[in-house]
Amino acid sequence: MIILLASVALSLRAQTPAAPAAPERQGLEGLKEIPFAALSSQAVGVLGQAALSLRPTEWKHAETENFIYHYFHSHIATPVSVEAEFYYRVIAKDLGKDTSHWERKAHIFVFESADDWSQFQTKAHLDPWTGGIHARNELFITRDPAQKFKGNALGHETAHLVVNRFYGDNVPLWLNEGYAEYISLVSYATFYRARGYQARPHFHNLPATDFLPLKQLTEMVTYPTEVRQVVAFYSESEVLVRFLSGEDKAKFAQFLDLLSKGSTFDTALRVTFGNRFPLAANFENEFKSYANSALLRKD
Ligand SMILES: [Zn+2]
Repeated sequence: MIILLASVALSLRAQTPAAPAAPERQGLEGLKEIPFAALSSQAVGVLGQAALSLRPTEWKHAETENFIYHYFHSHIATPVSVEAEFYYRVIAKDLGKDTSHWERKAHIFVFESADDWSQFQTKAHLDPWTGGIHARNELFITRDPAQKFKGNALGHETAHLVVNRFYGDNVPLWLNEGYAEYISLVSYATFYRARGYQARPHFHNLPATDFLPLKQLTEMVTYPTEVRQVVAFYSESEVLVRFLSGEDKAKFAQFLDLLSKGSTFDTALRVTFGNRFPLAANFENEFKSYANSALLRKD
């Protein structure tokens, strides 16, 4: 899931692209709409059914190489399709995974209005702060037609999809959310840089007063109840992933693999980053000082 609050905006400087932006250019071609009955997979889960039951006659459908789209307007869904395929490739590569053998396409449901999203949240029993969700083989996102830059929600949910495909259901909550935030902010900036923007990821800001002890953060199995705590949870998780992935990407992927198979945080850390952090007791202090220095950087 991703938080609805716009606290994770991308820094976009010199917002005049050097060349015509590819998503817009692609938009002229448009996704090719096909009937629901012609989709390569018509199997949708409980959340997918809840989505399709809202304004049931108005959903349109299309496919690309790895995704099936359910949407209302082609000019909204076409840029989504360009980004989704991009994020899928970039995230799999970041984790050193080959997606080419994965034949079953994932479904992406694209909501446009706040009202529709709110009704979906109610039907699906989601927390009101939820701005996007991944459930097994389905992603649900909102795209506000009035916003020029759409945020990292699509990349965030795509990251959950890739992690779920390669690491299963047992990735700890902090790691799942922290990685989805980290890689979606990085790949969102990459996406726009490739289209002529001077874009840099604007990572999370974590007030020192909201810092959770690592034991508490890494053992959480449910989301906090207060919105401020939810924001702190996502922020600290993202900073922790950035800290470890920044040390060594290959070791981070191994660390993720160990935790997904049931290792404790301490064991996974010792096996993968033991040389770098020989004293487990000092790890928290090193991380804290990294988090503090990360706060001082504006981008
Ligand atoms: Zn999430």
